[in-house]
Amino acid sequence: MTAQAPLNSFTITQRQLGSAASVLKLDPGILELLLWPMREIHVRIPVRMDNGSVRVFEGFRVHYNFARGPCKGGIRFHPEETVDTVRALAAWMTWKTAVMDLPLGGGKGGVICNPKEMSDGELQRLSRGYLRAIAHYISPEIDIPAPDVYTNPQIMAWMLDEYEGIVGRSAPGVITGKPLPLGGSAGRGDATARGGMYCLCQACKLLGLDPQGATCAIQGSGNAGQFAHLLGERLLGLKVVAVSDSKGGIYNPLGLPAKEVVAYKERVGSVVGFPGAESITNAELLELPVDILIPAAIENQITAENAPRIKAKIIAELANGPTTPEADELLFENEIFVIPDFLCNAGGVTVSHLEQVQNAMMYYWTAEEVHEKLERKMTAAFHAVHQTAQEHRVHNRLGAYLVAVQRVAAAMRLRGWA
Ligand code: NDP
Repeated sequence: MTAQAPLNSFTITQRQLGSAASVLKLDPGILELLLWPMREIHVRIPVRMDNGSVRVFEGFRVHYNFARGPCKGGIRFHPEETVDTVRALAAWMTWKTAVMDLPLGGGKGGVICNPKEMSDGELQRLSRGYLRAIAHYISPEIDIPAPDVYTNPQIMAWMLDEYEGIVGRSAPGVITGKPLPLGGSAGRGDATARGGMYCLCQACKLLGLDPQGATCAIQGSGNAGQFAHLLGERLLGLKVVAVSDSKGGIYNPLGLPAKEVVAYKERVGSVVGFPGAESITNAELLELPVDILIPAAIENQITAENAPRIKAKIIAELANGPTTPEADELLFENEIFVIPDFLCNAGGVTVSHLEQVQNAMMYYWTAEEVHEKLERKMTAAFHAVHQTAQEHRVHNRLGAYLVAVQRVAAAMRLRGWA
């Protein structure tokens, strides 16, 4: 990394790793390997567009670290994708699989494109083209992609079909987040939010906060945010008083019924204008007097600037990277209990791993069986992180890094990599 590198998500992951390395007195050789991806694939994908022209798209697949097992991580289709975002997300996947104690490493992929402006045919040709370009660098034993921002189970189905055509055999375990008829897992759809709710339940117990009727604000109304609203209400009895999306937020101190808000957004395209609620900005939502704050949208929302005004007792980070390192210190000083992103939102990858397991044994569990396994994993990881943070008197994010980095470093040492 050069000294002039701008502060982006990847430099933030490197700084976070540096803090963990100094607490752990990590071997310099191990740190050097962990600061950068072990392998990166840059591809250019020619796609025949509907108007007959050929457009060339740029894509990446990053294998951050595979000491603990094959790489695992989603594929994003995004107009502002950069290799640094993909590297940061691949690093977080490495810490996420380790903190969950899954036998996996970390990876991530991305293609610079705007799927909202592409037809279904163009999207299918791009998905198949990207898969062809990375086919020899993925397999159930090398790297297992999954959906992420602007990719979905249908795209996974096209990619699986392309892969199986190339290798000439059935290989459902090469990709997760598949539709159910192609070997997807029950319970995958809401797994991220559900995993976060299991952590939140443990945090409430620790703090002596009764979740029944506890007030909650959720930033973001996509997969993570909407399921957090529905499950928060159904599993924990939370009173969600504010939600938002990219167009703004809504607030009603009496509570916002999840099903009605989700149906309204489906119908109108935004939560803004929901009857009986006051309009607020995304910035105002973060500072509301609530018990629980759930960032479930984008990065860098809680910063040194607004952290001192945050009133929530618990922040459950479903989004990746919503809090800057400076804000982490301020929240810790103010005794706000943060459930850090790569622990709180690990439900998705945990059920993805269960999907791989089911694909390998060709036998499928019920949703209840998946939920029960997920709850056990999330609860164990939550307590491992909290206990480590307490022992070292550091905030939970650093606690999570300490758990994850120690596990990855142990595997690297055993392999003789340092
Ligand atoms: P979605 O694309 O489904 O939803 C994103 C939500 O964020 C949308 O409601 C969107 O608004 C809103 N949003 C976008 N920009 C802004 C903004 N500037 N201010 C406020 N809200 C905004 O994504 P997911 O729910 O899947 O992901 C959300 C976060 O959770 C991401 O950080 C992702 O990396 C993380 N995550 C998700 C996982 C999953 O399984 N889904 C797994 C692990 C992490 P609008 O509806 O108007 O577009």
